[in-house]
Amino acid sequence: MERRNTIQKALILRAVCELKRHLTADEVYEFVKKDHPSIGKGTVYRNLAILTEEGAIRKVEVPDGSDRFDFTLKNHYHVRCVKCGEVFDVDMDEIPDLQKKIHDTHGMEFLTYDIFFKGICPECRAQEKEDKR
Ligand SMILES: [Zn+2]
Ligand SMILES: [Zn+2]
Repeated sequence: MERRNTIQKALILRAVCELKRHLTADEVYEFVKKDHPSIGKGTVYRNLAILTEEGAIRKVEVPDGSDRFDFTLKNHYHVRCVKCGEVFDVDMDEIPDLQKKIHDTHGMEFLTYDIFFKGICPECRAQEKEDKR
């Protein structure tokens, strides 16, 4: 039983890392199921929670959307396409002293953040152009 659990966990971790996207739990499930039809949804959800707890992946809470699972572990910003809902990493340095400022201004112990910008992704923009023709 122990060994089976380890294998399932590795499969789920691989799915998140290989697809290089910000997947919802359902998307991870659909991906793993293709090669392993016997895997249960509960197993996938449970392992995602364990992997997040262990710090192997990162859970990103999306405003007005399903949680996503991220392979990039360091703090970073996201931009979400308002058309298709896809989440992308923003390749930019953190706001300097962000954590210190939050602490000093508000006396909060800083833990983490989920910062989302909104936009329209290149694919959706191309689609919009098509539609306007
Ligand atoms: Zn889009
Ligand atoms: Zn990310």
